[in-house]
Amino acid sequence: MPLGEFDLIARWFTRPARQAVLGVGDDCALLQPRVGCQWAVSSDMLVEGRHFLSTVDPRRLGHKALAVNLSDLAACGATPVAFTLALALPRVDEGFLSGFAEGMWALADAHGIELVGGDTTAGPLNICITVFGELPAGQALLRSGARAGDELWVSGCLGDARLALEVFRGALALPAADFESVRRAMECPQPRVALGQALRGVATSAIDLSDGLVGDLGHILRRAGVGVRLDWSRLPRSEVLAAQPPALQQQCLLAGGDDYELLFTAPADRHAQVLAAGASVGVPVTHIGAVLAGEGLTIVDARGVAIEPGAWRGFDHFAGEAR
Ligand code: ADP
Ligand code: MG
Repeated sequence: MPLGEFDLIARWFTRPARQAVLGVGDDCALLQPRVGCQWAVSSDMLVEGRHFLSTVDPRRLGHKALAVNLSDLAACGATPVAFTLALALPRVDEGFLSGFAEGMWALADAHGIELVGGDTTAGPLNICITVFGELPAGQALLRSGARAGDELWVSGCLGDARLALEVFRGALALPAADFESVRRAMECPQPRVALGQALRGVATSAIDLSDGLVGDLGHILRRAGVGVRLDWSRLPRSEVLAAQPPALQQQCLLAGGDDYELLFTAPADRHAQVLAAGASVGVPVTHIGAVLAGEGLTIVDARGVAIEPGAWRGFDHFAGEAR
């Protein structure tokens, strides 16, 4: 290796500690939660070939590795503070490391968070980030909080990342500009951190969409012991996706994965507050269904008629298998 482990850490992954009591360089980092706050902690691992393609731009990979973690903090309504980075690298590739670090630092700086430690080893390319966020004690948004009578909401648009994946898989072709836009959704997701914080005290439950809408919605249903009626025609989709055949739209919207939007519930009498929360952070939010007493998911078409479950029932398993 032209550069040793410690040179590598010093060159790309060390900056002076700001908020942390102690950052990179000792056996542990030291963080001090503010009085009255709790830590929200989450890890996400990205494995080459499973979570990203080997051809991806390293800058986008650096961005995405941190973005998917920040998305988990967003789903809890936490304010990101710090993160650690565990990295297995097949070799010290300076071009890769510079790009990766650039993408990662750009997103870290956009959220004012710092890298406080990690681990670096030789091995098949594998990236594991752990994020630490702060919350006023007891105010985390949880999956279990949904109640019958709540409205179901989602941020942004769904399905573009999956559409891009289908292009990479060779299942369809798109005009260059359309491909570029869905590819950006796949490779550069924007974690909805500000929205998550704005929804504290407004939403009753939240989850970030990483494995597909049907699969992730299932976590809320099971945790909260409720049912949901989902309005297919309300699901927010880009113009590019809306121009695709209905079966492909259904697959991308319901089982897409890699959306990193927030799916959340809120009491119907807070409808205006939810819209205001979205507007305050510049993120569109769409009312897509209703939380019901009882169990299970019903998907209805624009006329309110239930869509045959055979058309989408496999999507939760399918999503689970993909990631
Ligand atoms: P230890 O052997 O005690 O686990 P290491 O020798 O692995 O420590 O790491 C030395 C220091 O560098 C530690 O403070 C560790 O947190 C930090 N570090 C290692 N890898 C990374 C990385 N990829 N990014 C940021 N900090 C790292
Ligand atoms: Mg070590």
